[in-house]
Amino acid sequence: MILSEIRFHSPQNLAEAFKLLKELKEARIAAGGTDLFVDMKQGLIEARDIISLHKIEELKGIGKKDKRIRIGAMVTAQEIISSSLINQHIPALADAARSMASYQIRSMATIGGNISSAVPSADLPPSLIAADATVELRCSESSREVTLTKFFTGPRETICQTGELLTFIFVPFPPPNTGISYQKFALREANALAVASVASRLTLKDGKIDRAAIVLGAVAPTPVEALKTSEFLSGKEPSQSLLEDASLMAKEEAKPISDIRGSIWYRKELIPILTRRALTEALSQAQGKSRTRK
Ligand SMILES: Cc1cc2nc3c(=O)[nH]c(=O)nc-3n(C[C@H](O)[C@H](O)[C@H](O)COP(=O)(O)OP(=O)(O)OC[C@H]3O[C@@H](n4cnc5c(N)ncnc54)[C@H](O)[C@@H]3O)c2cc1C
Repeated sequence: MILSEIRFHSPQNLAEAFKLLKELKEARIAAGGTDLFVDMKQGLIEARDIISLHKIEELKGIGKKDKRIRIGAMVTAQEIISSSLINQHIPALADAARSMASYQIRSMATIGGNISSAVPSADLPPSLIAADATVELRCSESSREVTLTKFFTGPRETICQTGELLTFIFVPFPPPNTGISYQKFALREANALAVASVASRLTLKDGKIDRAAIVLGAVAPTPVEALKTSEFLSGKEPSQSLLEDASLMAKEEAKPISDIRGSIWYRKELIPILTRRALTEALSQAQGKSRTRK
């Protein structure tokens, strides 16, 4: 990477960033740079102008807004791990952040970058989708909010258009008796992308499963909701055998590819195991049992 050929822009606020995005249509957006600069170094992408978001205070911080949790796009994985709001209401997201990379990478890697990269094995999207997260996309004139499921259109492809920034992630506070769990299998404990991952969410009402969601990671072009399995669970009384049956069903909804980290067969074999673990932990949380932190 020859840095002298690259112009680095550091807008101080969103207004300045949108002005630059309008002027420099080919510019690349940099958040933590842990994906972008690796891709540039490997020659996968080129950039003459880089617009860095790191000085934009509006995009930082985790707080409550309109009865939802609002996470700024520039919040790092390490900040998610340390957030009392996240640990209290969506601990699965903190677990997912904790499973990422290494301390050094987590201190730079942002949630906005993890989502915008749209890499199928990314750790944060599955539990966010299970928690019904939406993302705000803003350009100089307008903003729109879409569900995270609709944001992804393919591997490294999203609906984010030139001139737009992912600004915030919104997560509704989970209703009472809800548990969400994230389970990941990687080839090493640290600095390893998921071979497969599963986020499960269960909400209980009157002793039955009122709402179930199972989101599979790294086994399809985008994070994918196992809709048939979720429907199968809804309305039923939870039991270990029900969770076993659901875990086997989820396997059929995975459409993995073979790559350097695992074959189609291996990934498919992982899905029932991870789904069973995720459902068991989600159920335990939903029943109010204390969770064992990873
Ligand atoms: C050694 C190593 C280990 C890793 N391990 C893991 C892992 O275990 N799990 C995992 O999920 N990831 C892992 N990653 C990938 C990476 O760290 C994450 O995806 C990270 O969250 C990306 O965030 P970033 O802020 O660095 O994004 P950047 O690299 O700055 O940006 C990534 C992409 O998103 C775009 N972008 C960034 N922010 C915005 C925004 N607000 N609006 C619009 N577009 C935006 C950029 O233009 C770029 O295309 C690893 C990377 C490395 C180098």
